[in-house]
Amino acid sequence: MAKVPYKTYLTEEEMPKQWYNVRADMKEQHDPMLNPGTLQPLKTEDLYPIFCEELCKQEMDTTTRYFDIPEEVLDYYRTFRPSPLIRAYHLEKALDTPAKIYFKFEGNNTSGSHKLNAAAAMAYYAKEQGLSSLTTETGAGQWGTALAMACSHFGLDLTVFMVKVSFNQKPFRKAVMETFGSKIIPSPSDTTEVGRAILAKDPNTGGSLGCAISEAIELSMKDGKCRYALGSVLNQVLLSQSIIGLESKLAMEKIDEYPDMVIGCAGGGSNLGGLMAPFMQDKLTGKANPRIIAVEPASCPSLTRGKYAYDFCDTGRITPLAKMYTLGSDFIPSANHAGGLRYHGMSPILAKLYHDGYMEAISVEQNKVFESAVMFAKKEQILPAPESAHAIYGAIQEALKCKESGEAKTILFGLTGTGYFDMNAYMQYLEGTMTDYVPSEADLQQGFDGLPNVN
Ligand SMILES: *Cc1c(COP(=O)(O)O)cnc(C)c1O
Repeated sequence: MAKVPYKTYLTEEEMPKQWYNVRADMKEQHDPMLNPGTLQPLKTEDLYPIFCEELCKQEMDTTTRYFDIPEEVLDYYRTFRPSPLIRAYHLEKALDTPAKIYFKFEGNNTSGSHKLNAAAAMAYYAKEQGLSSLTTETGAGQWGTALAMACSHFGLDLTVFMVKVSFNQKPFRKAVMETFGSKIIPSPSDTTEVGRAILAKDPNTGGSLGCAISEAIELSMKDGKCRYALGSVLNQVLLSQSIIGLESKLAMEKIDEYPDMVIGCAGGGSNLGGLMAPFMQDKLTGKANPRIIAVEPASCPSLTRGKYAYDFCDTGRITPLAKMYTLGSDFIPSANHAGGLRYHGMSPILAKLYHDGYMEAISVEQNKVFESAVMFAKKEQILPAPESAHAIYGAIQEALKCKESGEAKTILFGLTGTGYFDMNAYMQYLEGTMTDYVPSEADLQQGFDGLPNVN
């Protein structure tokens, strides 16, 4: 066979025109989300005050296998998609591995991450419904930036609650979001009831995604023309992120490849959920059996050390409850440098698939992550986001196992974004001052103690 090109692109014509809903092929569905007031299974209408209606319907839909991507969203996707499937020849050589390593690069847009795929859908459906604004939270800033971009494109106002530690670590993120016309508030803030309550308890808190979510929802509920948008975890987000996996699969078909394993970093589960979607479909329908591997930070290990339990999606306990792997909504992870992976819970779809044995998970400390990031940067000439570097670490480990065994396995991993706003973290790593915080059993127990008693 001719040598596989370094980059494989789909043409704009070949880009998928539908998203894929993995739930339509799952043997069992995840337990229903619960209304936080009644603790009864949630009805679609219960979500209407929070999210726009089309997204609520997507959230609850377990049977529709494919959803048409609206023409306006496809038009917008064409400004940054299709994204390349890249063969990591230089990394393979450096590792001296017989493995073939491919990665899907989602960092080729100004937000610097895959999050724009979901932001596009949310802004579009909000506009379609006649809304005028959205609110959201952001951790590391990628989601806020992505939604700021999509809102500017579709013509909506946006207020972003940014986790305070990230706000302080990454002042330029704020400027980027403001460039796209959004308003940024560090969280917890004194602009909401829930923010004031959290500040009263702990005035020096660096905040958390769970807390910023509570603030964003509170603000959105005050205005009938405003809704809230969440950038990960939800079923609707995994649906729109399926574009990553669908493109990857088509690109691999073009070069006669199929992955033996699919590896992704896991914060709330959206990129891995999207990347693995069509491969999980093959697994669920018996067509193929690739390994699917989630890589999470040792400082926030929801899959590897969390509990499979009902929990709130936010610290303020105003969101519906979801059955997921969770560290407890009160768990505030240490200020590690992969802000996008500092979430206490995990997508209910991923959690269910993991629980039922369709997926594996590993966790890794920061210094090892940055060692992988630096190696990858030097070999592949892309400066990865710290979040993405978790997947790189996973891919390198598997490639090294192939070196041991002599097997030429095909590895596909998701390179979710670039790390230009994470240079403080890189500096710490390079100076040798980066620490590896791993929560003790007692730390985790504190989070578990706050789990709601509904299991
Ligand atoms: C947000 C983010 C992640 C983690 O979120 P998931 O929902 O788990 O995908 C990973 N990488 C980057 C670059 C991100 O911005």
